[in-house]
Amino acid sequence: MGLINIMIEKERLYGKTLNELIAVAKRIGLPGFTARQIADWLYRKEINSVEEMTNLSKKTREVLDSQYEIGLYPPESASESSDGTKKYLYRVLKNKYIETAYIPDSERATICVSSQSGCKMGCIFCMTGKQGFQGNLTSNEILNQFRSLPEFKSLTNMVFMGMGEPLDNLNEVLKTLEILTSDWGYGWSPTRITVSTVGLINPVKEFLERSRCHLALSLHSPFDIERRKLMPIQKTNTVEEVLDIIRNFDFNSQRRVSFEYILFKGLNDTPRHIKELARILNGIKCRINIIRFHQIPGSEFASPNLETTIAFKEALNAKGILTTIRASRGVDIQAACGLLSTIEQNRR
Ligand code: SF4
Repeated sequence: MGLINIMIEKERLYGKTLNELIAVAKRIGLPGFTARQIADWLYRKEINSVEEMTNLSKKTREVLDSQYEIGLYPPESASESSDGTKKYLYRVLKNKYIETAYIPDSERATICVSSQSGCKMGCIFCMTGKQGFQGNLTSNEILNQFRSLPEFKSLTNMVFMGMGEPLDNLNEVLKTLEILTSDWGYGWSPTRITVSTVGLINPVKEFLERSRCHLALSLHSPFDIERRKLMPIQKTNTVEEVLDIIRNFDFNSQRRVSFEYILFKGLNDTPRHIKELARILNGIKCRINIIRFHQIPGSEFASPNLETTIAFKEALNAKGILTTIRASRGVDIQAACGLLSTIEQNRR
């Protein structure tokens, strides 16, 4: 009989909310206030080991260290674009790879994080969708993309627009947002964070009620039949229902809702689409971000030329909808989300 080695993994402290740290403190017989001290070490003093928590007694640190680890780990590889955008691959769920993008832009530096490995939503233009679903990331795995990014200290904004549908992993995403925006955590303003979604009806409601971060809805077509073909979620969670929730939600002056619109040549870039977009978004204070399609292998889609893209934007602006064209970044480093991790997973 062979020798079986069982590695017992320690629980990770990084990524736990204050309430979860209070539970940790209780479990090992420490007073509740120790949890705030631990949070302070984890999220404000940026330590890398339990040993460094020097306002805890040596005995306490030993007990904590015997059962828990901090749980930070660096990306496994990086690619840099000629425009300064970088893409990092982090290993999660034992042997899966997720992508994190770093996007510097004059005074801003944005991190684009993944919330799942793969995705269930199956949008037909998306490489991550083609991977299928491999698992939800924990708040540790989401937040580690931020903290272990080499450019961590320069970050000003975060968007949840990487791999996965963030609102399909709502609890872990909400925990991450709580840590980022609480006074005991990173203390970021919620207006520095945008969470994107395909529009899952109940999770959108819950997200709007339980967080103060911006919302970005992936629209891509204002027509039911066309959107169904691009995004299967439209069959069960119609955009009309999501727009009703948004229309009836009391957004304060700081909080923003925006719509992502990937422009596909000959498919959703016509005057008919402009007219219908203006109709369905009537009464919603918002912005549309037009995104140029990043080609993925085997795809029948293409981007319209720049002239059509600009004309589309201007027509929407003329209808009173603030519309911008998002600059394509990192085109020379497999900009389409999911492409780099698919290549890496296939290679291994
Ligand atoms: S576009 Fe987003 S929601 Fe759709 S399959 Fe890709 S990762 Fe999932």
